[in-house]
Amino acid sequence: MSSIPISLLNLEDDTPVCLTADEYQKKEGKWCSGCGDFGALNAVKRLLAKEQLKPEKMAFVSGIGCSSRFPHYVNSYGFHGIHGRALPVATGLKLARPELDVFVVMGDGDCTSIGAGHWIHATRYNTNMTVLLLDNNIYGLTKNQTSPTTPQGHTSNTSPRGAVLPALDPLQTTLGVSNASFVAQTADWVPAHLYATLQAAYEHPGFSFVRILQRCPKFTPDVFIDNVKNPDLTELLVHENGVNVPGLDKLYKAQREHDPGDLDEARALAQRKDKLRLGIFFRDDTFPVYDEVRAVPPVTPEEKINRLEKEFGRYAV
Ligand code: SF4
Ligand code: MG
Repeated sequence: MSSIPISLLNLEDDTPVCLTADEYQKKEGKWCSGCGDFGALNAVKRLLAKEQLKPEKMAFVSGIGCSSRFPHYVNSYGFHGIHGRALPVATGLKLARPELDVFVVMGDGDCTSIGAGHWIHATRYNTNMTVLLLDNNIYGLTKNQTSPTTPQGHTSNTSPRGAVLPALDPLQTTLGVSNASFVAQTADWVPAHLYATLQAAYEHPGFSFVRILQRCPKFTPDVFIDNVKNPDLTELLVHENGVNVPGLDKLYKAQREHDPGDLDEARALAQRKDKLRLGIFFRDDTFPVYDEVRAVPPVTPEEKINRLEKEFGRYAV
């Protein structure tokens, strides 16, 4: 568990924190030059500053991977866990400490491979947390191995003749899970859209899943390059309940009115590969939220001790 500076830690103090975006950064990110993780960190810092979240009232949970270094760089509590297990850790944390704002940061290898089972169930549980999937289409930390989202044909250390299977699509997968309540896609090279998407995700009362297309200049420099260079290959999903960034239509002229309440249309759009689509594919604020529906009545410390002693008494010899 990483810790916040003692100067910022005052659990009794309810006065506003008044932190700037840069003051939410604990130390310099150690990613390669040009890595898209920097853009995600900047957007998160802006969000934290806008919301003026107290460092001691939030936690960043990650698994293993380049992007999972995130908790080390944010001025908050953090848990840099084990591979694929960020979601169960975060779920447990949110259930035990519902007053915390919980953020989860995972890579594609982390979430969609070893963590895939947790991903499916955490989506269905719809626990209230903001979930960032930083998808660079490769295992970066372990140096260039094919992940489930690696494009078919892309060569890597583990697929020297090219990935043989079609890539898994995290949007389609998440949209296929019962009770999935917020599914969005954005990209590190469109910072205004990235920030606005994270803002909407944070405000959503439930499991907000945001796939962030993340450039990895080290191992997958080619996978997003066409979209970075040519905005016409990208279509923004816009709607009064979606992500709307003033002025972005000047650069991204292809826009589609999409009602994020339409699940069938969201699934159809996620399946289409004619353009890259950024925006909120689906959201529904009314779906059951696990940390609310399973809420148990508070127990006093005395009651807890009584229950424990009763349990221990069952095994007394
Ligand atoms: Fe970023 Fe790729 Fe470098 Fe990892 S290997 S820090 S994902 S650029
Ligand atoms: Mg990756």
